[in-house]
Amino acid sequence: MQINFENERFSTRHIGPDAQQKNEMLEVCEAGSIEQLLKETIPAKIRLDKPLNLPPALSENEYLDHIKKTASRNEIYKSFIGMGYYDTHTPNVILRNILENPGWYTAYTPYQAEISQGRLEALINFQTMVTDLTGMEIANASLLDEGTAAAEAISMLHGRRRGKKRKNANTFFVSENCHPQTKSVLKGRIEPLEIELVFGDPEKVDLTDENYFGILLQYPDTYGTVKDLSEIIKTAHDNQLFVTVAADLLSLTLLTPPGEMGADVVVGTTQRFGVPMGYGGPHAAYFATKEEFKRQIPGRIIGVTKDAEGNPAYRMALQTREQHIRREKATSNICTAQVLLAVISGMYAAYHGPQGLKKIASKVHGLAKLTSAGLQELGFKTVSDQFFDTITVKGLGADQIDEIRSRAIDRGMNFRYLDEGVGLSFDETKDLSDVEDVLNIFAGASTKENSFDVQKASMVMRVDFPESLARTTSYLEHPVFNQFHSEHEMLRYLKELENRDLSLTHSMISLGSCTMKLNATAEMIPLTWPEFGSIHPFAPTDQAKGYHQLFDELDEWLSEITGFEKISLQPNSGAQGEYTGLMTIRAYHRANGDTQRDVTIVPSSAHGTNPASAVMAGMDVVVTKCDENGNIDLDDLREKVEKYSDRLSSLMVTYPSTHGVFEEDIREICQMIHEHGGLVYMDGANMNAQIGWTSPAQIGADVCHLNLHKTFCIPHGGGGPGMGPIGVVEKLVPYLPDHDVVNINGGKGIPAVSSAPWGSASILTISHAYIRMMGADGLKEATEVAILNANYLKDRLKDHYPILYTGRGGRSAHEFIVDLRDFKQDVGIDATDVAKRLMDYGFHAPTMSFPVPGTLMIEPTESESKEELDRFCDAMIQIRKEIREVEDGEADPEENVLKHAPHSMRVALSDEWNRPYSREKAVFPVPHQRYNKFWPAVSRVDDAYGDRNLVCSCLPVEAYSEGQEPAAGESVYPA
Ligand SMILES: *Cc1c(COP(=O)(O)O)cnc(C)c1O
Repeated sequence: MQINFENERFSTRHIGPDAQQKNEMLEVCEAGSIEQLLKETIPAKIRLDKPLNLPPALSENEYLDHIKKTASRNEIYKSFIGMGYYDTHTPNVILRNILENPGWYTAYTPYQAEISQGRLEALINFQTMVTDLTGMEIANASLLDEGTAAAEAISMLHGRRRGKKRKNANTFFVSENCHPQTKSVLKGRIEPLEIELVFGDPEKVDLTDENYFGILLQYPDTYGTVKDLSEIIKTAHDNQLFVTVAADLLSLTLLTPPGEMGADVVVGTTQRFGVPMGYGGPHAAYFATKEEFKRQIPGRIIGVTKDAEGNPAYRMALQTREQHIRREKATSNICTAQVLLAVISGMYAAYHGPQGLKKIASKVHGLAKLTSAGLQELGFKTVSDQFFDTITVKGLGADQIDEIRSRAIDRGMNFRYLDEGVGLSFDETKDLSDVEDVLNIFAGASTKENSFDVQKASMVMRVDFPESLARTTSYLEHPVFNQFHSEHEMLRYLKELENRDLSLTHSMISLGSCTMKLNATAEMIPLTWPEFGSIHPFAPTDQAKGYHQLFDELDEWLSEITGFEKISLQPNSGAQGEYTGLMTIRAYHRANGDTQRDVTIVPSSAHGTNPASAVMAGMDVVVTKCDENGNIDLDDLREKVEKYSDRLSSLMVTYPSTHGVFEEDIREICQMIHEHGGLVYMDGANMNAQIGWTSPAQIGADVCHLNLHKTFCIPHGGGGPGMGPIGVVEKLVPYLPDHDVVNINGGKGIPAVSSAPWGSASILTISHAYIRMMGADGLKEATEVAILNANYLKDRLKDHYPILYTGRGGRSAHEFIVDLRDFKQDVGIDATDVAKRLMDYGFHAPTMSFPVPGTLMIEPTESESKEELDRFCDAMIQIRKEIREVEDGEADPEENVLKHAPHSMRVALSDEWNRPYSREKAVFPVPHQRYNKFWPAVSRVDDAYGDRNLVCSCLPVEAYSEGQEPAAGESVYPA
């Protein structure tokens, strides 16, 4: 036997089918070879003529060795920088069982509530934590970062301006003491909305000025100062202004929360609740407000409802608003958010409980107090004597700052350096010896010796805020925050929730457009290394050489893959990428003097985030029609382009289309836009059907985003994190996003779109690993198998279900649509019934009713083997038989397995069973399940009931055991 000395190729593990299975599938598809299949699918005129130029593929072990070397180029300094980012201890039980556990990180956004009860509960814990700590009435779960959360608040409040004087007010006041990155994000986000921002000193602003409709304050502010805000909030309210407060959650365990001072909205980050800094992210931001705004809250809200049996159940509330209804009337484009991180932060609060959090907060506060006292003895002055964890030393000369900086660097410490001061922030990972170190460093810039006895002073240290600032109300009293404080209890709670959720660890999740492919273990390993986790986003860049190597390589590789000139890694979701891309286009037109170019054309089949992002970028959205094949209607497009020629900014187009078709005319479409002076934005959600065969630049686009959490293997996390970097042609490079804290585009680009300069930097390691382990050949093969798998599924299902829209020769791209509308018409079985019935078979439903209502869109991805595809097909075919039983009158139109789906264990094993079909038929529709059954935790949830009776915080624990219905219209917690 010939000996093969090559290392194992990663792509053989990433890609599901082996050579023999591929041949079997090709036969079903009646294609002679993969080459032939792809040539029939992808139009010749847009195919690439040469292979991608990427470094050779590494095996898993080679890659891990390689990335370890890169990681070691990041130097971990102790961070005292603060500014909303703190070092934290992720409790190990949470690290291993959530962050490093595919049972949690491979789940999808919880649209299918019955098989998502675990993370829905975790998210309602998060919401309860936020409402309790902020003193507000309702909170969402969750937003992308503090800066964008503040922007969302302003835009929500703008829509709710009130009072005769304020109805048309268009100016928003922002305290100059907000974090600089928040101000940077606001500048960009607010300007296109034609709202004016004024930055200034909140003590001096004239709130009777009729132009203002609201104000934003930071609490504690960016220099650490804590002030009683009740007075300014009252004045603002007396003048019919809204008040948003950006608040540090940990400080609120000790300080009077903004809610009790009357704030209308409270926003912030939950990073320091157990989520590593990761050089900027990902972390969950929170958004809390008053009941009166509950129907305007951006992002997702988890609510309580009842299931078909009347038992309490969780689900995403008001979920149809943004994507499906509002579209061009939307004011927020939040889709992928930061669910996994919100889950971690909520669990951190549950693990520590109210006492534990208060203990951490008082330690952090104590360290700051000790430092402040010691610095005073050394003769230094601080900006304020009311602070939580941050003190800012003021009145320093340049020489002193240089001295402090160089001594701090020698000791491996990063401080925040200001013009005439130094900021010092403490967190739970610091201790008394750090205070000692800080004082010794400062002594070097003082004429006095450091003789402050930290140990001794610490013995008498007290939390003693003045009455107006000291929190008196209790929080986190719900049992969920008080019963999982031992590791065993927490471990079992995490497992219990995990077990209620269906994830990729159970079966394929064939969500069209979402590309739920393998998230390989090797790809996930580096991101929890401290070399990637423990770096502050504003640490000096020369301490993050490993990160910058990774960014440069990703820039190079993603540029090669897209055919573009440069990549911006700042947008932290696909929708943020859309917004960023449109803002660069806008900046380009403006630089050319074309300020009137404010129309974006969006096809009717576009994802809901497209029009929403366009509105946020200040565009007027013009919708263009699709023809009966799902393609853009060229005649209609031409008409619109000509009509708006003068005002044309851009076209947003998804390619291959959201219908899963490679439109033949894409080049002509792009050309038409260019001829009228517009630019083409390509929504890159479907890149999985392009890599190595065609590219956004090849089809004629000027800019696109890449959902790294789809095509490039970042796990979906149950609804986030994600990354949405954009690629652009050369002429748009000067307008890529900048950042006020870290100069990244020469200070000339558009203002920051994320709080952190490189978005959620730490998860870029995942996509980096994927590209480096697949190599050019592996990536190209992934595209081929994604298309093969889709065509195989389509061809196996086409005799059982009508297939909507295919391309030339009946081929689909990497996804296709099954049309269920006739069943609804004929026998009342709809897409929801099929989706819910799939749960009884152990599968997550494909994408429902997008882009066409009443249909399912199936995307298998290249990672599914033929066995799994066959299991899914068998389920779909069996469900078709169940529909036929209703058609034939064998099954009752209402009392049937589809209408009653899904069947929970509680229902199936109950002593009462009065259905006209058997229990076996209900729960074991295919033999495989007798030894591997996934049980939906609840029966079908009642969405309408939940939306009518919005309850968004934890249920009393008894509710589950006693099966009582949540009280209508009121929060059952606190009871
Ligand atoms: C997923 C998706 C988006 C939105 O991306 P997020 O990362 O969720 O913000 C936009 N367009 C299409 C077609 C998508 O599938």
